[in-house]
Amino acid sequence: MSKTANRYGPETTLPIQQSYVDGGYLPSTSAQSFVTRHPGNDRVICDVEIAGAAEIDSAVTAARNAFDSWSQTSAAERGAILRRAASILRERNAELAELETLDTGKPLAETSAVDIVTGADVIEYFANISQSIHGQHIDLPPAAFAMIRREPLGVCAGIGAWNYPMQIAMWKSGPALACGNTMVFKPAEQTPLTALKLAEIYTEAGLPPGVFNVVQGAADTGSALVSHPDVAKVTLTGSVATGKIVMAQAAADLKMVTLELGGKSPIIVFADADIDNALNAALVGNFYSTGQVCSNGTRVFVHSSIHDAFVDQLGKRAAAIRVGDPFDPETQMGPLVSREHCERVLHYISLAKDSAATHVYGGDAITEGVLAEGYYVTPSVFASCRDDMKFVQDEVFGPLMSVLSFDTEDEVIRRANDTYYGLSGAVFTNDIRRAHRTANALQAGIVWINDYNVTPPEVPFGGYKQSGIGRENGQQAVEHYTQVKTIYTNLGDVPKTY
Ligand code: NAD
Repeated sequence: MSKTANRYGPETTLPIQQSYVDGGYLPSTSAQSFVTRHPGNDRVICDVEIAGAAEIDSAVTAARNAFDSWSQTSAAERGAILRRAASILRERNAELAELETLDTGKPLAETSAVDIVTGADVIEYFANISQSIHGQHIDLPPAAFAMIRREPLGVCAGIGAWNYPMQIAMWKSGPALACGNTMVFKPAEQTPLTALKLAEIYTEAGLPPGVFNVVQGAADTGSALVSHPDVAKVTLTGSVATGKIVMAQAAADLKMVTLELGGKSPIIVFADADIDNALNAALVGNFYSTGQVCSNGTRVFVHSSIHDAFVDQLGKRAAAIRVGDPFDPETQMGPLVSREHCERVLHYISLAKDSAATHVYGGDAITEGVLAEGYYVTPSVFASCRDDMKFVQDEVFGPLMSVLSFDTEDEVIRRANDTYYGLSGAVFTNDIRRAHRTANALQAGIVWINDYNVTPPEVPFGGYKQSGIGRENGQQAVEHYTQVKTIYTNLGDVPKTY
């Protein structure tokens, strides 16, 4: 940890926070602010000034002004700055993880192992490939050739969700900046703090002012950013409903969009699967980050011959999950992100409890003791669920696992695909032919065979159907942060047509 590191705990309060524009903090002229709270105890951490039209314009103008010089900076130099940022992020992992835990309520055991380091990995990946981002030459005999230049887009607007606030900011800014773009990022209003640390770290790493900016606020701020005429592209991580609004708004100016949206993904467990691996995956794919993960496998299809035994184990293992203060290093599951979201999740759990599904375990709000101050819900497992139950169809984004029984491969593939989502999925089997047949048939942007929720930087991530448009990570992301220009060169004469 660096010498100047701050340390954060559940009682931490911070001074008022602002937007970060053109290399420094920018006071807002909007005279409006919102509060951010620690989900573990409902305490206000700080006020955050809302960026109004003037601040958004300043941020986009700073990004536009920085674009000429940043896009002309050598790829080697851009890569070096981004690698320095990745290294500072790793050095400050402990402090940043604490701040993320304070803002999101996710357990320190997760934020210190995943949130910051996997974001730094993505920045480093794109820093390392920045020198390999190039165009093409096409020979056109007898007397011409074409060059295909790969050029950056300009100012990219990034809009984040609250479940992985800093990681999302890094997954978007890493490739955008490596490709020579500049960015204005708006974090979710529930979790506005760590994107500001990322901006500070980029500055410390040598990123010129204006290349990465952060504006604070909710939907209105996001909407003003999307509609700013100098924004070339919008990349959103959020719900399907927001994705549709953002895409419609971007369509007014035909801005490019990348949308990373929600899911209701299937995990299919065939009878020949390694049961311990499937159990481990189903549990982590439902309860990590208190179930607030877009790619979670919340519909667990289990072959009828092993359904009851599998469910029995799930119930016992869910009951053993340690729910508690996210700052306690022993805690495995923290609170939900906000009171509003907690009420929404409890509503879905009540639908499940009232349904014909079997209530195997959990789904209770914690209303006694010190945890009663926060937004805690115990992990819940429901079995013998039916496809048409509302909690089985909708993305709940909380600790609610639905287990469904199936008999045949064709049947389970049809049922797994019977959703407007298509983010991810998994198949557990030891039959390699069945594994690949099923993976090929699933309508999803990523399918894991005998694993779950693994997202290395080299591997594209994104949704089919209404789960999204475009891809993050992998070389495919470069296509979404660049555009190609064809330059045709004639080495001969122009025919005399008229
Ligand atoms: P949300 O859609 O409510 O908000 C996402 C962001 O969009 C926030 O910053 C919000 O302020 C902003 N926003 C809201 N309305 C807007 C508008 N009209 N114009 C511009 N910006 C607007 O989502 P959330 O509740 O923050 O996050 C949960 C959702 O995000 C879930 O559906 C989850 O599946 C999804 N998610 C997807 C991925 C992925 O990679 N596919 C990752 C994480 C979360």
